[in-house]
Amino acid sequence: MIAGIQDRIHQAARKAGRAAASVTLIAVSKQQSDERIDAVLASGVRVFGENRVREAGQRWQHRRPTFPDLQLHLIGPLQSNKAKEAVSLFDVFHTIDRQKIALAVAAELQAQNKQAACFIQVNTGEEPQKSGIAPYELSDFLSFCRIEAKLSVCGLMCIPPADEEPALHFALLRTLADTHGLSQLSMGMSADFEEAIAFGATHVRIGSAVFGSRASAVS
Ligand SMILES: *Cc1c(COP(=O)(O)O)cnc(C)c1O
Repeated sequence: MIAGIQDRIHQAARKAGRAAASVTLIAVSKQQSDERIDAVLASGVRVFGENRVREAGQRWQHRRPTFPDLQLHLIGPLQSNKAKEAVSLFDVFHTIDRQKIALAVAAELQAQNKQAACFIQVNTGEEPQKSGIAPYELSDFLSFCRIEAKLSVCGLMCIPPADEEPALHFALLRTLADTHGLSQLSMGMSADFEEAIAFGATHVRIGSAVFGSRASAVS
């Protein structure tokens, strides 16, 4: 399954006139069994995504010593009371979306003497139930993250609305990133990663297409 996905990523990159190495596969391991995770690790994948801090700790803390080159990405919402735990576990943050979180992550990075790349999550569909800042808030929030929080913001992340054409949202995120001089785009999941790559995704977050369907339906 993993080889097939890597192949499709490479082909989509080539079709877009991009180097295969310009797209990072984040294997989203949330709710997956140890067996499946060990199989994907055995195939050489070292970049994994999780959406819950506590669950990710249980899954990855004990594996870290065996795989020193492991890279863990937090792709789910973060609460400031979990910032300490999150910063000690994760290498990249995809869901910076409010001042309080930006400050909490920044403070913990400093306290733990760590560095982490951060993506700002943009609610491109402006859905009330979804995390992320609205597109019009980006300029101010980006300045805040850089100047007040001193975070190193590398790009933008989005999760398109389930019932809309994802291409519209990928195009919007790309335009927003270009306008603000940001080079990284975290977009594209199992159902639409090839399209996301066509629109410039540098990080695709793929769960079920890599591991098989998840045990429970909760995201
Ligand atoms: C679960 C999840 C994914 C992966 O979803 P699949 O459809 O299984 O590929 C990607 N991004 C986020 C933010 C997720 O929560």
